[in-house]
Amino acid sequence: RNYRKIKELSPHQAKMPERDHVERARNFKEVNLGYSLQDALGEAERCIQCAKPTCISGCPVQIDIPRFIRHVVVRDLEGALEVINEASIFPSICGRVCPQETQCEAQCVIAKKVESVGIGRLERFVGDNAKPKPVVPPRFEKKLGKVAVCGSGPAGLAAAADLVKFGCDVTVYEALHVVGGVLQYGIPSFRLPRDIISREVQRLVDVGVKIETNKVIGKTFTVPGLIKDKGYDAVFLAVGAGAPAFLGIPGEFAGQVYSANEFLTRVNLMGGDKFPYLDTPISLGKSVVVIGAGNTAMDCLRVAKRLGAPTVRCVYRRSEAEAPARIEELRHAKEEGIDFFFLHTPVEIRVDADGNVQGMKVEEMELGAPDEKGRRKPMSTGRFKELECDTVIYALGTKANPIITQSTPGLELNKWGNIAADDGKLESTQATSLPGVFAGGDIVTGGATVILAMGAGRRAARSIATYLKNGKKWPITKEEV
Ligand code: SF4
Repeated sequence: RNYRKIKELSPHQAKMPERDHVERARNFKEVNLGYSLQDALGEAERCIQCAKPTCISGCPVQIDIPRFIRHVVVRDLEGALEVINEASIFPSICGRVCPQETQCEAQCVIAKKVESVGIGRLERFVGDNAKPKPVVPPRFEKKLGKVAVCGSGPAGLAAAADLVKFGCDVTVYEALHVVGGVLQYGIPSFRLPRDIISREVQRLVDVGVKIETNKVIGKTFTVPGLIKDKGYDAVFLAVGAGAPAFLGIPGEFAGQVYSANEFLTRVNLMGGDKFPYLDTPISLGKSVVVIGAGNTAMDCLRVAKRLGAPTVRCVYRRSEAEAPARIEELRHAKEEGIDFFFLHTPVEIRVDADGNVQGMKVEEMELGAPDEKGRRKPMSTGRFKELECDTVIYALGTKANPIITQSTPGLELNKWGNIAADDGKLESTQATSLPGVFAGGDIVTGGATVILAMGAGRRAARSIATYLKNGKKWPITKEEV
């Protein structure tokens, strides 16, 4: 087959159909509607099938992108799904929530001249439309070992999927009553519908992964207890980073101040889709301020709007150009009527006589020289403003929840209080300071992306299999894996 030259390509990706912004800001229905077959075929034809496909190295789980796109071009969606599944169990999820524009699409060869291939949109199309083959659990004469996976978010589930393929007996322990971790509690259904999560998790159960909910590691069991009392040969810690970060300014523990974690968990897991019939209603007041401008902040802003708050504002200390949120999320938030206060930082939350929020004092900022990551630093100006508000949501990132680290003697932490593990490279082992204990995902990195967590989960599975094959030799080295 002859593929096109760059100069023959459409300069833009096929547009993603979206729900109207006025209608969607009143409900939790999915905003992006997904490609039609015609859209997908047109977009797949924009891939020029490079001899050196740099897109693959931009994918944290190394999906063979040109090969799956080749299957799409000839309308073989099942073949495309098989290729993706070699590396990723969650195409419908990753196609929706991964920041492809900074990963595979940023590395796409054609992006030097025109818009990159819409890899994420094609992945989503395949995940949503291919008919998966019936699942056949892998058979082994003798199991390689018994592995406990703590946490059922993307890192834990990706590890579990591979561990089963390696011949391990795998049990996933989840602290909440539903499976999925941050996919469930952190991402609203208008970005990731719940039936997509259930469908992709069911495939794991079908291949033999056991899942136990309402089991809090650190309370229900401890990590040493899993090994000594329950007979696990190895443990993978993938419990996410559940402790919120605050600013340390006056008033931040007043009534009507939420962390993004609490706010999103209560909405996403306790009936946000069924607004206004929530089991545990959140009282939002009339004027909400969300602090931060990452994807979680965008989720909080857009959820607050959907819950009926007339005024919803984002306060962020840098400019829009430095905002960590995906460009699409920022655009969607603006279209839905969110007001942005860039270059402002909160200095005090004003509290009324009853102990509730009644406003916020903010300082105007200006940008100084770039910091060590190359982002320009926000600088004080000494100019202050008062913002009226009655609800504040902190969306400033998360840290490790100390419940697991404090109940595991000898488990070393890094300087941010997260678990210290060999992480961050394709050949990393995810090994911790404790024999047989591995860790990955947000509990190691702090809040990051779904696909980075899945990459860590896959590396941990590979290392655990090596550890078990080598008779539990410790420490484990990169060369052995
Ligand atoms: Fe296709 Fe872009 Fe990958 Fe080249 S780099 S194979 S154009 S997706």
